[in-house]
Amino acid sequence: MSDVALVGGGDRARPGEISLAHRGVLFLDELSEFKRSALEALRQPLEDGYVSVTRAVARATFPSRPMLIGATNPCPCGRRGDGYGACQCKPERYQAYRARLSGPLVDRLDLHVVLPAVDVLELRNAEPGEPTSAVRARVELARRIQVERHERAVTSAELNAHLTTADMDRICRLDQAGATLLAKSVAKYRLSARAYTKVLKLARTVADLEGSVGVGVHHLAEAMSGRVLDRHDDRGAAA
Ligand SMILES: [Zn+2]
Repeated sequence: MSDVALVGGGDRARPGEISLAHRGVLFLDELSEFKRSALEALRQPLEDGYVSVTRAVARATFPSRPMLIGATNPCPCGRRGDGYGACQCKPERYQAYRARLSGPLVDRLDLHVVLPAVDVLELRNAEPGEPTSAVRARVELARRIQVERHERAVTSAELNAHLTTADMDRICRLDQAGATLLAKSVAKYRLSARAYTKVLKLARTVADLEGSVGVGVHHLAEAMSGRVLDRHDDRGAAA
């Protein structure tokens, strides 16, 4: 997909996929196969929530706040870390593949998680998981808490993702154990300021999902488990 198709532009300043999916879901499969320039073009719209397109004959600003979901294989052959040592990718090829997802782009994604390969036999014999209705109830609770905080003027935005630094100072305060854990992680993984902010907002959301007023150390630990690409040694050449 071209940069223009993704973020907008062209001779007639048309919106791109990121604006067409505003307030919806934009799913980009095989993210590491996208052109680096197209992925980098996502940074500004993701950050600001809008994209300005200026051409000689036209100029337009489009909103760009989709829920962006990207999927990528761990390596070009897709078998790295499968537990069988089946990956045949040369180290240079693996590094180049991982480097497509730059640090600044990864910083702008709220959550990054690893989905291990599913064993087909296990799938057949698996116990049914938690029903979607139970998950939905938790999500609705967390959304309600966030909206109510905004209505009481505790925060300047409805959703945790859009909180300002001042909002976070009020509602993402950590106890001593949490502060110590976060300080250690910042040093160990060399977290950027943006990644640090994302972790705090995520921890606030994990606490909201539990209906918890405070942000505890276990909320923080869970938030950090949802930021696997912040671990610079894991991101390889992109670090
Ligand atoms: Zn491989």
